[in-house]
Amino acid sequence: MSRTRARLGAEARALGVEPGVYLMKDDSGAILYIGKAKSLRARVSTYFQGAPRESPRTELLVGRVSAFEVILTETESEALILECTLIKKHKPPFNVRLKDDKAYPYLRVDAREEFPRIDWTRKARRDGARYFGPFPSAWSARQVLQLLNETYRLRDCSDNTFRHRTRPCILHQMGKCSAPCVGKIGREAYADGIASALRVLEGRDDALLRSIEDSMKAAAEREEYERAAWLRDQAAHLRVVVETQGVDDAGTDRDRDAVGLARKGDVAQAALLQVRGGKLISVSHFHLQNAAILHRGEGLPAPFVDILVDGKKVERAEPARGRMVENAP
Ligand code: SF4
Repeated sequence: MSRTRARLGAEARALGVEPGVYLMKDDSGAILYIGKAKSLRARVSTYFQGAPRESPRTELLVGRVSAFEVILTETESEALILECTLIKKHKPPFNVRLKDDKAYPYLRVDAREEFPRIDWTRKARRDGARYFGPFPSAWSARQVLQLLNETYRLRDCSDNTFRHRTRPCILHQMGKCSAPCVGKIGREAYADGIASALRVLEGRDDALLRSIEDSMKAAAEREEYERAAWLRDQAAHLRVVVETQGVDDAGTDRDRDAVGLARKGDVAQAALLQVRGGKLISVSHFHLQNAAILHRGEGLPAPFVDILVDGKKVERAEPARGRMVENAP
């Protein structure tokens, strides 16, 4: 086994078991491949084990990899979304092209409307509305949309239909809509329903999920297994939607740079995460030597952060109080 492969294997075995995305790079720092993993340690380690690959393509990839970087995510669903975003952004040569340039769906709410509805869309625009997603499962997103509409009795009709109704539709008769189209609910009461739905989508209110789970148990105890299974599915869809809120701030102009620092004795590692247009698009790691000059409990000194963030002009930079070199290769 080559020394590079042995070194990368050791680094992979030192990874955590959290889910996340990994980026394989060549000796010039170019991204060769982006993948996702339920457990980064288990997945990345498989690339650098001694046994020959079944796939010549993977063997070719491993032969060219000089370094890898990882981005941890809270959930596997987040890893899936982040992987998709990064592949679209960087187009690594070893990633098979997404067949139909698949766009994951979002839920959209424009709270500026008098009686907003929750929309399902595959395109997040910077139009001032709030977007939730993207969601790894279009089916789950649609199920949650319906669940929220029915729970909070929100309108499901298009703006055009809404404007021209003279009588409520059957959804009102079924108790699934409060019929704002004909003034059966006031603006404030309707806004309360929208606010509750937003809290669920933001993951700030798990009362709905708990209530579904309670109903599921009660249905199972009454031996209503079909209903219990339906409720179980609803809870699963809701979890999928709530679990994918950490890696995309769609529909915003938000550009952010986040710098993190971990230090052990004289050695420190900084990570720079770059968010552009609300999406996490890149991560870079940097070794900081002579890190003892940093005071315990403090973050990076402002000049270091400026150097990291200003267009990543960090390679071989020589700040006043320590030497900073790029980690890989
Ligand atoms: S009851 Fe009125 S507001 Fe509700 S979905 Fe039907 S048409 Fe739309």
